Amino acid sequence: MKKPFVSKEQLEKIATQYPTPFHIYDEKGIRENARKLKQAFSWNKGFKEYFAVKATPNPFIINILREEGCGVDCSSLTELMLAEALGCSGSEIMFSSNATPAEEFIKARQLDAIINLDDYTHIDFLEKIASIPDIISCRYNPGGVFKTANGIMDHPGDAKYGFTKEQMVDGFKKLKEKGTKIFGIHSFLASNTVTEEYYPILAKILFELAVELRDKTGVEIKFINLSGGIGVPYHPDEQPNDILAIGEGVKKVYEEILVPAGMGDVEIYTELGRFMLAPYGHLVARAIHEKHIYKEYIGLDACAVDLMRPAMYGAYHHITVMGKEDAPCDHKYDITGSLCENNDKFAIDRMLPKIEIGDLLVIHDTGAHGYAMGYNYNGKLKSAELLLKEDGSVQLIRRAETPKDYFATFDFSDILKNMKY
Ligand SMILES: *Cc1c(COP(=O)(O)O)cnc(C)c1O
Repeated sequence: MKKPFVSKEQLEKIATQYPTPFHIYDEKGIRENARKLKQAFSWNKGFKEYFAVKATPNPFIINILREEGCGVDCSSLTELMLAEALGCSGSEIMFSSNATPAEEFIKARQLDAIINLDDYTHIDFLEKIASIPDIISCRYNPGGVFKTANGIMDHPGDAKYGFTKEQMVDGFKKLKEKGTKIFGIHSFLASNTVTEEYYPILAKILFELAVELRDKTGVEIKFINLSGGIGVPYHPDEQPNDILAIGEGVKKVYEEILVPAGMGDVEIYTELGRFMLAPYGHLVARAIHEKHIYKEYIGLDACAVDLMRPAMYGAYHHITVMGKEDAPCDHKYDITGSLCENNDKFAIDRMLPKIEIGDLLVIHDTGAHGYAMGYNYNGKLKSAELLLKEDGSVQLIRRAETPKDYFATFDFSDILKNMKY
């Protein structure tokens, strides 16, 4: 069963200072998990995790991960600015973007970030607007379908990302002519995988490609970036990934393919987002309405603005009604937010204990791609983010939006001068 990392008593106390809804993160869980990842790849000398900033772009959280040895993976101008403000530069930053605007490449070059090119045509584009760096990475898309023994995982052939095989060969040759000295390879073929096979199968594809690229182009390949995609068990019936087994699986392929090819010093990088944080975040909301029509509804003070995944993907997020952990789940509810959109439902036909107005609900696994995907539809304001520290204290790490924030983009004019805040 999924258990919240905070108790009802703790949450009620926190809610007296920071009203619901809010996201809360578990520092202890974040650190322990980051250390386990490092341990899983400790066989590789240069191993580095570049945390995918888009998953949880909060500077306090990023600093915790940096203390655990992580770099940052950015994909936009503001993410690069955040990294810069936290003192990141050079090989601490991976810039994995696509359809990249010129100003983003320029910023990435200013910070001397490792650029992971998404497309062959970006070589000339980058040279024209900035310059070709000494070290560069190219993103590979093998096309077709991505299969494991248990079936199809995803369809890279339909994905907008990356170079084809031929473009990888031509691209490396072209970059070499333009002065690049050190190369990396990246690929991201499936998202939220809850199987220990994903990384090893991806690693095999990339390791074989690395040997081929070295042989065909004569370049030095310094790193292979397995990117994101390691998932978490959103549903209590799913088994969590054993990251130590995943690390071992990659090691086995490394020793089969890279070591015999004389490439036993290639560094392994990851760009995990979800795996680093999803389980260590809760969205905490309160039941503020009940409604009895053709179905039974519970209305929360949170809505899809706080967590978009259920509305966007029909994603499952487990819910705990605080204080009723051991009560029978004998009521069937749709748990909704207040948007004027019928897909604003955190759960549909979910069996839960009887919910009373005022009950606190924990929505699990919101630590990644949770707050970050939020938006302002219906003029709803974004919630605060809190950190449950290792010593049990709670720190505000992002305040809740106020109406003033929402209207701030009209501040070039006096049209809202009569706004009453
Ligand atoms: C989103 C993304 C990640 C992180 O993905 P997760 O599923 O959160 O692990 C890593 N790299 C790139 C390029 C991405 O776009």
